[in-house]
Amino acid sequence: MTSILLKAAIATLVAVAGSLGTALTVVPMLGGSVDGNAFLMCIVCPLVTAFPVSAYTFWQSARLKQAHRDLARAHAQLAATHRRLAEKASRDYMTGMLNRESFFAALDGSRRRSDRGALLIIDADHFKKINDNFGHLTGDDALLEIAAAISRGVRAGDVLGRIGGEEFGAFLIGASEAEAATVAERIRREVEQIRFKPAGTQQVPLTVSIGGTVCSFGATVSELMRAADRRLYEAKQAGRNLAIVSGLSPAA
Ligand code: GH3
Ligand code: MG
Ligand code: MG
Repeated sequence: MTSILLKAAIATLVAVAGSLGTALTVVPMLGGSVDGNAFLMCIVCPLVTAFPVSAYTFWQSARLKQAHRDLARAHAQLAATHRRLAEKASRDYMTGMLNRESFFAALDGSRRRSDRGALLIIDADHFKKINDNFGHLTGDDALLEIAAAISRGVRAGDVLGRIGGEEFGAFLIGASEAEAATVAERIRREVEQIRFKPAGTQQVPLTVSIGGTVCSFGATVSELMRAADRRLYEAKQAGRNLAIVSGLSPAA
């Protein structure tokens, strides 16, 4: 408020000076003279008009600037909320990993940037039995343990998603076949080492089977999925608790 009054006072002073200057130059040029009353009017008129008008204008301008600031703050808050909601919508509520849609979107995006990498599909073994024997809630606990073990097994920066009920996907960015096989084996071991002991029972073994494929030039996401699924099927057929990783072959 003080700054508004100050600015209005300065504007009024300028108006008074302008009014006096004009009267003192123009009136003599027209052959007249500025007497005491005219001089007084040159000061009073700008005082009573310029001050309220400029004070009102500066006040409106300050309000407009404040409204712009409020709008910008609301816009930033809205954008942050939107980001949080989008992030939440892309996650699996239970494990915190990417959900199926977001995982494949991330996989697609990563494939567009580079052709190098490997896809692993990780499926919990005989998981139905855990639910049947101990109930769905205990099954959920086991799934969380498995998800945590998978997270420990991958490298920093790899993309993880829950792509089905007891099925997870891992995209190992830039990994070669040997690196992918190492990571897959590390995941398999991490899960095997879980000491899962539902209340009132003995320890229950948890294992996963893993199928993996290395990206080849131009292969689509569905081709990669098919190839990794085929390896997963082979791992299940071979007795489970096994990781099989190979390059993308035409037969896959
Ligand atoms: P396989 O080794 O062949 O994969 O056997 P499986 O029993 O794991 O496979 P199947 O497809 O027969 O059963 C999957 C089970 O996983 C059945 C389903 O109820 C359970 N499941 C899927 N999602 C969840 C979940 O979020 N929580 C719990 N507790 N169980 C789940
Ligand atoms: Mg399973
Ligand atoms: Mg499954």
